[in-house]
Amino acid sequence: MALKKLGQNFLIDEDVAKREIKYCNITKDDVVLEIGPGKGILTALLAKRARKVIAIEIDERFIDDIKKNLPKNVLLICADVLKVDFKTLPKFNKIVSNLPYQISSPITFKFLEYDFSQAILIYQKEFADRMVARVGSKNYSRLSVGIYYKARCEIVETVPKTCFDPQPKVESCIVNLLPRTFHPFSVSNEDFFFELTRELFNHRRKKIKNILQKTYGVDCEEIPDKDKRVEELTPEQIGKLSNTLLEIQHR
Ligand code: SAM
Repeated sequence: MALKKLGQNFLIDEDVAKREIKYCNITKDDVVLEIGPGKGILTALLAKRARKVIAIEIDERFIDDIKKNLPKNVLLICADVLKVDFKTLPKFNKIVSNLPYQISSPITFKFLEYDFSQAILIYQKEFADRMVARVGSKNYSRLSVGIYYKARCEIVETVPKTCFDPQPKVESCIVNLLPRTFHPFSVSNEDFFFELTRELFNHRRKKIKNILQKTYGVDCEEIPDKDKRVEELTPEQIGKLSNTLLEIQHR
C-alpha cells in the first residue's frame, strides 16, 4: 500500500522518466543521486545511462524488491535522506529524482549545500511555481528568493496527475536546477540573509519599515526601501537590506 505521509505517488509513465534522463543529459561519466527510488522506474533507466547511481529510499518494503533486479552500478541505501550526510556518500555530480513532496523544501536546500552540476527533479506544480516566481508575481516568496540566490531554475514541463499511481491531488512539474558558481549579489552573512528573508515573508503585504522597527528595533531613516512592501523587494534588494541591517547593528 502506498503511504501518503511518504509522498508515495509512483510514476507509471516511463516516457516521463526517459525525458527526465534526457533533460539531465546523463552519460557514462555521471554519478547520479536518486532520492526515493520506490518501485525503481527511474532507477533502472538511470543505471543504464550513468556510471553509477546512488539511490536512497526510506521505505524498507521497496528495498528487498529493488534488490532482486539490482544492476551492479546501483548503490541502494535504506535511510531517511534528510539524515544522510552527503559527504559520506561516493561523490555524485547529478541528481535526478521524483521527490517525495513533503520534504521538497529541506531536501532542495540540502542539495544546494552540495557541489553538483545539475538536478532534474519532479515537484508539485504549486511548489515549482514558487521556486521560479519573480518579484511582483503572486507566487513570489521566501522560496523564490532563496532559490534565486543559489541556483538558476526553470520549469521544463508540467506532468499530469494521470502519470502517477496513486494519482496526486495536483499536477506536477519537472524542474531543471543549475547551482550558480557565483551568487547574483553578495551578502555579508548568509544565515542572516536567510533569517531576514523568512521574517519579511511572514508579513509579505507589510511595509519594510514596520517590520524592521518591530522585529529588529531599527530606526529606518537610512533604509532605502523602507516604504516598499515585502512582496515588492527583489532578491538583490533583500540582500542589500540584510547587509545594511548588519552594518547598523555592528555600529
Ligand atoms: N522514484 C519513484 C517513482 O518515480 O515512482 C518513487 C517516487 S515517490 C514520489 C517518492 C519516494 O520517496 C517514495 O518511494 C518514498 O518512500 C520515498 N521517500 C519519502 N520520504 C523519504 C525520505 N525522507 N528519504 C528517502 N526516501 C523517501
